[in-house]
Amino acid sequence: MGELEDWRQVSLLSVESDRLKRWYAPGLLVIGDAAHVVSPVGGIGINLAIQDAVSAANVLSGPLLEGRLGTRHLRAVQRRRAPAVRFVQLAQELAQRWVVAGALDPEPEAPFRLPRSLKRALRMPVLRDVPARLIAFGAWPVRVRGAARKGVERGW
Ligand SMILES: Cc1cc2nc3c(=O)[nH]c(=O)nc-3n(C[C@H](O)[C@H](O)[C@H](O)COP(=O)(O)OP(=O)(O)OC[C@H]3O[C@@H](n4cnc5c(N)ncnc54)[C@H](O)[C@@H]3O)c2cc1C
Repeated sequence: MGELEDWRQVSLLSVESDRLKRWYAPGLLVIGDAAHVVSPVGGIGINLAIQDAVSAANVLSGPLLEGRLGTRHLRAVQRRRAPAVRFVQLAQELAQRWVVAGALDPEPEAPFRLPRSLKRALRMPVLRDVPARLIAFGAWPVRVRGAARKGVERGW
């Protein structure tokens, strides 16, 4: 600490939550962090990137193998994945506002507490798993399908 005189001597990680309007151009598709950066809340950037990749494999494998890949297929990947990303970014924004901001404030006006009814509901077996499932698998879970699945089975 004695060596530090200025914050410029420290590497700061800037955190953003943002997404591209368009994830594709002819011959180009961007997914994962290149298409959307999310807040660290929940630690789900990797999940989203992998889900994008699985979705892209599902949509693109068939047309690629048949040599008929077009921009409309790239557009379809964005159409499938963008709602899930928007959902995550909204949930993170709410968690930031309601939970994280209060927890990081050294002098909170009123500490955040979950309403009792919500606490009780989250103890019920069916509802208890919902937050963990949303974080782990996302709002729209994806699985490898179609030609992409055949490719995995054949070890391509
Ligand atoms: C400090 C930190 C902590 C994080 N913690 C978590 C966490 O706990 N959980 C979580 O889910 N997410 C976490 N994330 C977010 C997560 O790392 C990203 O969301 C995720 O890695 C995105 O995957 P990606 O494949 O889109 O991009 P990346 O993982 O960034 O992969 C892009 C790759 O492209 C390579 N590359 C770049 N330019 C070129 C080029 N010109 N030519 C060739 N290769 C190139 C890079 O070297 C990199 O390997 C964290 C991020 C940071 C910065």
